[in-house]
Amino acid sequence: MVYDVTIIGGGPAGLYAAFQAGLYGLKAQLLEASPTLGGKVVTYSERVIHDIGGQPSISGHQLIQNLQEQAQLYPLPIRTATLVTDVSYDATAAIYNVQTAETTYQTKALVLAIGGGMVRHKTWPLLAEQTYTNVSYVPQNPAAYREQSVLLVGPGYNLMALAPHLIATAKAVHWIVAKRPFATEAEEQDFLTTYPQIDYQVQPILSYQQANGQLTAVTLANQQTVTVDTVVASFGYRRSLDTHTDWQLTPDQLATPLVQPIGQQVGAKIGVSLIANAFQEGTVAMATIAQQLHPTEKAPMVTTHNQDFDRINEAYWTVE
Ligand SMILES: Cc1cc2nc3c(=O)[nH]c(=O)nc-3n(C[C@H](O)[C@H](O)[C@H](O)COP(=O)(O)OP(=O)(O)OC[C@H]3O[C@@H](n4cnc5c(N)ncnc54)[C@H](O)[C@@H]3O)c2cc1C
Repeated sequence: MVYDVTIIGGGPAGLYAAFQAGLYGLKAQLLEASPTLGGKVVTYSERVIHDIGGQPSISGHQLIQNLQEQAQLYPLPIRTATLVTDVSYDATAAIYNVQTAETTYQTKALVLAIGGGMVRHKTWPLLAEQTYTNVSYVPQNPAAYREQSVLLVGPGYNLMALAPHLIATAKAVHWIVAKRPFATEAEEQDFLTTYPQIDYQVQPILSYQQANGQLTAVTLANQQTVTVDTVVASFGYRRSLDTHTDWQLTPDQLATPLVQPIGQQVGAKIGVSLIANAFQEGTVAMATIAQQLHPTEKAPMVTTHNQDFDRINEAYWTVE
């Protein structure tokens, strides 16, 4: 199977481009290196974004969910944990070969939405390479922690935003840090006064217990043992910037309308890397690719007058 377009990267740029690919009737797929969609937004999923036009306030988490939902209005394969390791061009067939660990995909066009490279979580040093099913590095919606004893570990500012949201649902919220994450003592005091329900401790964690593939308790430097149901660890992120410098594409093969860089890669060059810009770039990218691949076809109707959305429109106006 030859795809019309392969989108590399499942951050906001790639996810929105996936929707646009569907709107333009292109046979598309999206390949994302991480197991999780959302790109850099995952690193601040509990923060609220305020500068997307027409969307005054939205959490990173909700934005990623919405983008996934919007992308699947035109169902397409979204392959996570799929790092693109190489792309080469077959000039005879006019096809790009997209190499992953599993297979090679063929595509007529490419949208490069790889941001600053793959986002990798720094792991909790105490666990070394060990993984446990109840330890995650990506916070979920607070409702997922209902009636659980939650251990937040690490200084990540994501936890500072997440902790207060858990109070209403979780059985207990423990936030244990080795070093103070707050900029000033006054800020820390303000946090503690506002959220006395959070068991916040500046204590190194010395050891942990585990059973059946789950982390069950930690022991702090003050000898206190904290039993836990779920752990959210946040030690920051690192990005690997080498993701496409060693691909086989030559500068000529990159500088064609059939290869469209969008999102942070474009923004970084002008010093403004914003989600709203990425959406605009995804739209232009798909319009350009559609024009190249199907020059005689008309552009799609605007969504307000596009029959693809009839079913959604009916539901939208249905009064319960
Ligand atoms: C702390 C913070 C706060 C921010 N706040 C705002 C804000 O308030 N408003 C705003 O507009 N912007 C904000 N931004 C910027 C915004 O997050 C970025 O502009 C946006 O994420 C860029 O989207 P992207 O899809 O281009 O790249 P990314 O989000 O970086 O996504 C790129 C994706 O491509 C994947 N990838 C990379 N290489 C490969 C490969 N070889 N194969 C497969 N997949 C690959 C990566 O794993 C990643 O998921 C903020 C950024 C940070 C760090």
